[in-house]
Amino acid sequence: MQKEALLEIIMKCNRCGVCQEVCPTYKISGSEFQVARGRNRLIRLALEGQLDLNEEPEIEKFINQCLLCKACEVSCPAGVPTTELISEVRKYYTGTKGLPLLKKIMYRGVFSHNKRISLVRKLGRIYQKTGVNRLVKFTGILNHTDEMLPDLPPRNVREQIPYILKSLSNPAHKVAYFLGCSVNNFFSSIGVATLKVLQKNNCQVVVPEVNCCGAPHQSAGDIEEFKRLAQKNLDVFKDLDVEAIIVDCATCGSVLKDYVHFFQEDPYYHEIALKVAAKIKDISSFLLEIDYQKDLGEIRAKVTYHDPCHAIRYLKVTEAPRKLLKNIPGLELVEMKEADMCCGGAGSYGVFNPGISRKILAHKMKNYRETEAQILATSCPACTMQLAFGIKLFKLSGSVKHPVELLAEAYEKAREK
Ligand code: SF4
Ligand code: SF4
Repeated sequence: MQKEALLEIIMKCNRCGVCQEVCPTYKISGSEFQVARGRNRLIRLALEGQLDLNEEPEIEKFINQCLLCKACEVSCPAGVPTTELISEVRKYYTGTKGLPLLKKIMYRGVFSHNKRISLVRKLGRIYQKTGVNRLVKFTGILNHTDEMLPDLPPRNVREQIPYILKSLSNPAHKVAYFLGCSVNNFFSSIGVATLKVLQKNNCQVVVPEVNCCGAPHQSAGDIEEFKRLAQKNLDVFKDLDVEAIIVDCATCGSVLKDYVHFFQEDPYYHEIALKVAAKIKDISSFLLEIDYQKDLGEIRAKVTYHDPCHAIRYLKVTEAPRKLLKNIPGLELVEMKEADMCCGGAGSYGVFNPGISRKILAHKMKNYRETEAQILATSCPACTMQLAFGIKLFKLSGSVKHPVELLAEAYEKAREK
């Protein structure tokens, strides 16, 4: 975006401070530099030439500590698109200095390559199963960062597909499933549940070979690599004859829909991105739309639901997962205070900003504890990872599940009856 366009947007901020009431980083720090108003002011001063972004490392820290949760945007009376402004500054930093080494290794080195993500899963599993993790925990050198990883599965979803997918004789729907890298490798139970639930509802499913949606790269301002991955995914989806592209990861879904935004000057990919965006469907919303089968067994438990930022504020999905949960016999849905407040996960935010991330997590966990629920449901693997880490870190009871996992379990219980 041009400097003049950015200044025009930023001048909309009337400094009312409404964003202070909703910004998670402000809530736990009380710092004006950790809220939309303060961050936008820093950007404005830089655009006006009163501040040099490269000479003030603290400014980069404040910009990078924004969660891109959009809580400020939805309550901003002036309609300031703070996350767009923050993303522009991150793009500037990455363009002038390159990605920091660790982010480069994680994002370009690993997340850009499916085989390497799978290798990380296998190595991580060895680390967890041989007890090396317990030794590392004892030394305290990683400050619990390795404990953020879930128990890694022996096989990813893609390796299980031949045993799960069947050819249906008379399918009611033909859909594609976007199997994101995180669900595929780190939360395979979610992917398996999605496939089983779709088939239970007479959907013929194709699972094309896709790349990472590019969320980590986009969030870090590495737009060049993000667009490369986006083009590869658009090439995969452009000729697929399906009525919907199903996502069970709110982040993947939001990013896939947002490809349109990045190809405005490329008519070829822009057109494909528009078609793809129109087909992206969150799994819970899709199931409600097709009036999914309600032959469900009982799950006796209390459940609460955490709204991922990418579900509630990007995809605008809030009621559908709750309806799925409420329809399961025996499951009692209790609302948690500030259910829509970011959990501090925000992709790999917790790895790069552990202090602030854990303070936000502590706030979320306090609200979870108060519900006395045994299950914490959510629809995004990044939130799942953060919330499950919170349960471990604060020694709480309960487990984190995707609504589609609970639905698959309820179908299974009905079958066993
Ligand atoms: S709510 Fe919007 S207009 Fe008000 S201070 Fe925050 S960013 Fe500026
Ligand atoms: S996007 Fe979230 S973390 Fe960033 S300024 Fe807005 S409310 Fe705060």
